[in-house]
Amino acid sequence: MGKDRAAQSGGKQDNRELLRDIPKVEKCLQALLAIEEIEGAPLMVVKNSVRDVLEELRRQILDGRETAAESLELAALIPIFLKRIRRELQPKFRRVINCTGVIIHTNLGRSILPDSAMHKLLEAGSRYSNLEFDLETGRRGSRYSHVEKLLCTLTGAEAGLVVNNNAAAVLIVLETLARGGKVIISRGQLVEIGGSFRIPEVMARSGAELVEVGATNRTHLRDYEEAVTEETALLLKVHCSNFRIIGFTSEVPLEELVRLGGKMGIPVMEDLGSGCFIDLSRFGLEKEPTVQDAVASGVDVVTFSGDKLLGGPQAGIILGKREIIERIKKNPLNRAMRIDKFTLAGLESILRLYLDENTAVARIPTLAMIAAPPAEVKRRAVKLARMIRRDCAHACAVDVREMVSRVGGGAMPEQNLPSWGVALHPASVTVSVLEGELRHLEVPVIGRIEEDRLLLDMRTVADNEVAIVAGSLQQVFAGEANRLSI
Ligand SMILES: *Cc1c(COP(=O)(O)O)cnc(C)c1O
Repeated sequence: MGKDRAAQSGGKQDNRELLRDIPKVEKCLQALLAIEEIEGAPLMVVKNSVRDVLEELRRQILDGRETAAESLELAALIPIFLKRIRRELQPKFRRVINCTGVIIHTNLGRSILPDSAMHKLLEAGSRYSNLEFDLETGRRGSRYSHVEKLLCTLTGAEAGLVVNNNAAAVLIVLETLARGGKVIISRGQLVEIGGSFRIPEVMARSGAELVEVGATNRTHLRDYEEAVTEETALLLKVHCSNFRIIGFTSEVPLEELVRLGGKMGIPVMEDLGSGCFIDLSRFGLEKEPTVQDAVASGVDVVTFSGDKLLGGPQAGIILGKREIIERIKKNPLNRAMRIDKFTLAGLESILRLYLDENTAVARIPTLAMIAAPPAEVKRRAVKLARMIRRDCAHACAVDVREMVSRVGGGAMPEQNLPSWGVALHPASVTVSVLEGELRHLEVPVIGRIEEDRLLLDMRTVADNEVAIVAGSLQQVFAGEANRLSI
């Protein structure tokens, strides 16, 4: 009888009658719970999955989309339920393999931590700690004390504080030093960082008033000088992390701003954005001002991220003159932005590695990936290509080629890192289908499409991930991929 209706499908009337063929939730549940695979799955997940699938079918029928009556039979629905349940049981937040070549990829979690730091994180989470307990005196301590001295040793700063992220750092500094006052900034530095962090908007939230000076491409010291009034509370410099103004340009060096601030009795702040402790020109990159350079200029306060070029956990680091840092510490906003014990554990571990520059470069993944010589990256590409040719030769053409990696994270936007990877051209599916299938794996493999090839850049892939990537491709081409979407 269902078949008859399917045969004359098309008419809205007939379609509606199909609604009656949708099995009841209870009946589906009964059938499902008899299946071994379902054992141990929370009933709530099973129930909701069944309801969702049935609801989608109902909508499909009501929308007049073609629906075969057979597809509503329990036997046809069971595999769909199972697929949905499997998908729901997968953690939503999970590991991926970054084959994009973008090292500090904000969408893929920015910096990754070395095992030594992860060990400290694990311990901080599973054991009690002296988070706010002074082991010397046996009294209450400060969570910031664990990293403040280290930060000062590494950078030469007088004092420091760590908050949730750099956006929070900028906000709390502005709120502390400039609420109700005016902040002078060059028009060329009114940046927007991804995720709607815009200097003018953060400024407005802090209760400070923005005073733009100069032109988009050129700002001179006299522009700042002429804008200073009694209400000026701060001179601000923001690092143009994610763009460059090129051509006829001029920016006032930090030292000159500091000199002007000193003369006028106005504090000077720099938002460094990425904030690096090491001069990366060693690795063929453009020289960027380091945190130490900023501190040495005499700037009153400088802020930067923990998880960009520093290579640590998400955090906003504030360094500067003791008197200013003390005021920021006392700001009630500080409590709302404070870091947790995991951040603290990870950050201290990372900062300790910086006590020796070579150790930092070797052990901090973000730096190691930047420093990796192309020949080393190429070796991984060659190894991956060999595995793909061995396992998937019939399904996919592969060649090893030179490509371009990026530092990412709004750091050094113009800088290319020469890299190596593989370019894939599947025989029987399109490149975008292959890209999608790899993205839907249990451990998704994220590459990029360029000129009808899927590129997998090996600069951001660890040695022990190469075999996983090869295995993933084999799985996809064998049609065994556990497709997590219906
Ligand atoms: C990235 C960045 C921020 C924001 O830092 P988060 O740590 O992501 O909050 C602020 N200012 C500049 C200049 C940046 O580059």
